[in-house]
Amino acid sequence: MAVTSVVPQAAVIECAAHRTITILGSTGSIGSNTVDLVLRNPGAFEVEALTAHSNAAKLARQARELRPKLAVVADPGAYAELKEALSGTDVEAAAGPDAVVAAAARPAEWVMAAIVGAAGLQPTLAAARRGAVVALANKECLVCAGELMMGEVRRHGATLLPVDSEHSAIFQVFDFEQPEKVERIILTASGGPFRTFDYAAMADVTPSQAVAHPNWDMGAKISVDSATMMNKGLELIEAHHLFGLPEERIEILVHPQSVIHSLVAYVDGSVLAQLGTPDMRTPIAYALGWPRRMDAPAARLDLAALGSLTFEAPDLKRFPALRLARQALRSGGGAPTVFNAANEVAVQAFLAGRIGFLDIAAVVEDTMDRMGESVVTSLDDVIEIDCSAREAAGERARMPVGGIS
Ligand code: NAD
Ligand code: MG
Repeated sequence: MAVTSVVPQAAVIECAAHRTITILGSTGSIGSNTVDLVLRNPGAFEVEALTAHSNAAKLARQARELRPKLAVVADPGAYAELKEALSGTDVEAAAGPDAVVAAAARPAEWVMAAIVGAAGLQPTLAAARRGAVVALANKECLVCAGELMMGEVRRHGATLLPVDSEHSAIFQVFDFEQPEKVERIILTASGGPFRTFDYAAMADVTPSQAVAHPNWDMGAKISVDSATMMNKGLELIEAHHLFGLPEERIEILVHPQSVIHSLVAYVDGSVLAQLGTPDMRTPIAYALGWPRRMDAPAARLDLAALGSLTFEAPDLKRFPALRLARQALRSGGGAPTVFNAANEVAVQAFLAGRIGFLDIAAVVEDTMDRMGESVVTSLDDVIEIDCSAREAAGERARMPVGGIS
């Protein structure tokens, strides 16, 4: 597969005096960090829309500070509270999944895609289809519909800027002019809170232990994904789509300090990396200011104080997620969609106390086995495979399921 360059028009997009932006998932961890950076730069950004799932109170607070034209809750049950909380402002309120997609379709130059899970697919596609600059945090949408999403990005001249710290790092050191000189990319992984646990001890870990990440402060779902290393599996597939490298040229390296955010190895033996303290405001700022750099308040890296950085190979026995992600990527078709959907259901089941920690990977593996191979040629195919995989995983984990639409 040819390297597709996520930023074909990097050189020609001007950095306007101020940028119109929309934040999808503004109440979450990435969304709130984005809001923080916007508030630190008065006059630099004009906000078109903010969206959230159901936290109307927080969304309204953000809207009162940022004065978007529109604020949307995906959950219709939260509409009355949002409307009430916005009374006296000129911010329009709306609700429902379609209203979130419509918000993404409004004419903001730059869109932060920070909804969690495949629920972010349709809004992110809507932003890509009008040729926006899309800052992509929502890795699940690239995992469940990678070829489709990249095809739409190319067709509509959109620009995809990775926000995931690893992909932002690779993006910053990847030579898009000579992609054929890239030998491999190396995704670093903290290893999560159970990196040193033995397998038997991992069976008993609780949701509160799993969401307490040693280095990063993140939403619940991605924190559990980091603990199982599903997150690195999702990121492997994300990196494949963003940078066009085949599965066997994407390595995973455990680096517990999360200082080197990822690396690119070239044919001459050079290996380039991006470093920084673990604060998502750095990669968010990189995308928010792109193609210029902007100030971000992350603690500055002090390597002398750190003293040493360490590395180890991932343990595929204790973290089967990495093997499953490679299998899904190699199988292609609907396999990554199944991998992602089953994981979303399993994580929900684990957080709800219905299954154990080690069951997460087991549910994903069983669902992948049961679903077998499938072909994806359209968004409808993705939605259908996502739905069936959720049902199969839900049965396996004995809980009700959500979905893309
Ligand atoms: P979060 O749970 O803190 O926030 C998720 C946001 O999405 C919230 O605003 C929520 O209201 C909204 N949302 C949830 N379900 C929705 C739905 N069905 N429809 C519409 N909106 C919905 O999650 P997060 O940690 O901010 O992560 C967001 C995305 O960014 C995820 O895909 C995650 O993998 C990715 N990411 C996060 C981090 C991080 O540090 N938090 C780092 C890298 C990548
Ligand atoms: Mg990451």
